[in-house]
Amino acid sequence: MLRVENIDVKYGAIHALKGVSLEVKAGEIVTLIGANGAGKSTTLRTISGLLRPQNGNIFFMDKDITGMPAQHIVKQGISHVPEGRRVFANLTVMENLELGAYLEKDRKKIKESFERVFTRFPRLYERKNQLAGTLSGGEQQMLAIGRALMSKPKLLLLDEPSMGLAPILVQEIFEIINEINKAGTTILLVEQNAHMALSIAHKGYVLETGRIVLQGSAKELAESEDVKKAYLGG
Ligand code: ATP
Repeated sequence: MLRVENIDVKYGAIHALKGVSLEVKAGEIVTLIGANGAGKSTTLRTISGLLRPQNGNIFFMDKDITGMPAQHIVKQGISHVPEGRRVFANLTVMENLELGAYLEKDRKKIKESFERVFTRFPRLYERKNQLAGTLSGGEQQMLAIGRALMSKPKLLLLDEPSMGLAPILVQEIFEIINEINKAGTTILLVEQNAHMALSIAHKGYVLETGRIVLQGSAKELAESEDVKKAYLGG
């Protein structure tokens, strides 16, 4: 479904990605793990069209989307939940969700998307008229994911969904990610919480200072001595 081939991304003099290649097949959860600053967010931002690679190509459903503007990439079926759950604090839950459907003009389809998201997140339904800024951290993360689902993506890019959440909420968010995948959405998940990420992923890649240093099934990575030492606390 998604093929990233040998991409290089630079921020001025900083060479953030050095020949990164990865593949996500339809139906999979693929996780990209790595330390702070390894280039995980940069990879997602490049796939969703917020950054342009200096080299390499990105294919989605066999179409070359390299360098395509972000709104066109959303139209192809890729939706990105950025790090730090950027919800619009002064807008209500409903208004935030509506923004996720900005490409859809058909009111009936928008209504169906609301129903789908509210079924997945009953907590958001209960708070639909509440300002997003007054939601708890976990609820804001649900809203950020719900907003991304409003465009009915084929591929969901999730950047650190567990960041800053209490363990019980991390558990809940990961269960939700698993359910979204089981309902048919393919997922590329960036996480610092390698333990949780590998527990739900099919496959994973380890990124170190802009390079993929290891890849394999989630089971292989979870059992790898290098991964255990560096990312699973021994
Ligand atoms: P984190 O989990 O801390 O976000 P990450 O693995 O997602 O880490 P990136 O945010 O992709 O890492 O950053 C990769 C490298 O690029 C880092 O060295 C970072 O300092 C640098 N970088 C990221 N964004 C910018 C930017 N806008 N301008 C300059 N350098 C940047």
